[in-house]
Amino acid sequence: MTANADLIGQPGGARLLTTPALIVDGELLERNTRSMVELAANAGMRLRPHAKTHKCSELGKRQIQWGASGLCCATPLEALVMLGAGIEDLLLTAPVTQPRQASAIADAVGRQRQSGQSCEFSVVVDSIRGIELWEEALKGTQLQFHALVDLDIGMQRTGVPDGPAAIQLAARLSDSTSLKYAGIQAYSGLIQHIESFEERQRIYGTHLQKLATLIDELRAAGLGPSTVSGGGTGSFPIDAASGLFNEHQAGSFVFMDVEYGRVAWGTSMVPFDVSIWLRGHVISQNHAGMATVNLGTKSFSSDSFAPDVRNQPDWAFQFFGDEYGKLRFDGPDAPLWGESVDFVLPHCDPTVNLHSEYHVLHGNTLVAIWPIDGRGVL
Ligand code: PLP
Ligand code: MN
Repeated sequence: MTANADLIGQPGGARLLTTPALIVDGELLERNTRSMVELAANAGMRLRPHAKTHKCSELGKRQIQWGASGLCCATPLEALVMLGAGIEDLLLTAPVTQPRQASAIADAVGRQRQSGQSCEFSVVVDSIRGIELWEEALKGTQLQFHALVDLDIGMQRTGVPDGPAAIQLAARLSDSTSLKYAGIQAYSGLIQHIESFEERQRIYGTHLQKLATLIDELRAAGLGPSTVSGGGTGSFPIDAASGLFNEHQAGSFVFMDVEYGRVAWGTSMVPFDVSIWLRGHVISQNHAGMATVNLGTKSFSSDSFAPDVRNQPDWAFQFFGDEYGKLRFDGPDAPLWGESVDFVLPHCDPTVNLHSEYHVLHGNTLVAIWPIDGRGVL
């Protein structure tokens, strides 16, 4: 039973939420997604937002209604959950090396097709063994998955490092019956949060040069990619201007967070609003200039900054143990014992992974509770 379920639709119910409670503004989720769909379309790209950000099939389905062409998934379980929710176009953006995971996905896609639903499933590969693993999982099923060759354009995380290796995999896919060579993926994570736009542009520019060269090499070998997929929220304006991609994978823009709030976009305005926050309560207030809230490292994941206090730029949060945070403030506007306080997430996607549901507001009304159903391991 969800703690706050009885408050759905109650006038003023949003104020009564028990905490910690992850809250999203349903209208801002829609506005952020529609803005990104439009920005991508203006640059000749479809938007396939990354579901690793929200891990939520209810939100994923809505992103497609708001104009996304499909979804990206980072883990096999995310993919299985999105398939189960009836999402018809998915790309798993990480290589799979565990046969049981590939078989579970093949089974789920097969069931979907048998029930008469269309289902386009795409995978990425960066090794011959990775290709063989999917072929094995698809053997005897009549299914064909699309496959993108994952290119390492600078991050050295996944992907093939050079043209000959990319050509070898693309050629191997072209000979496959259960996998269809559909193009390439190129993603650079480490540059996404470089705050200076010029610095990000300079470093990521070298990655994109490598991508342009690899595309030329594939074309020269008769293996020109029909899909070129990649990019994140921080690289979006650079990806859009490059003309190299026709599919974009940004994820965090739907929520935004402290980290992305600091990242310059190269235009005067970042066109996305913070649509998610975590609500806690003051549980103790016995010292001047500080209070203790019920949110600590079990509630926020941060690899960089502390959370911001929403709408209170003069209050500061400090981590204060697993379950607690210290709120510092000056002056008469202090929060009071038992009151709720809202925080902007330091880094949205790993923080979301610590919670089990979104409390969806329209204005001040709690309209729904969506499970964060893509968490865990398949
Ligand atoms: N594509 C891939 C392969 C990713 O790993 C990620 C995030 O880590 C994204 C896209 C989305 O990036 P962001 O959440 O920064 O928009
Ligand atoms: Mn992230």
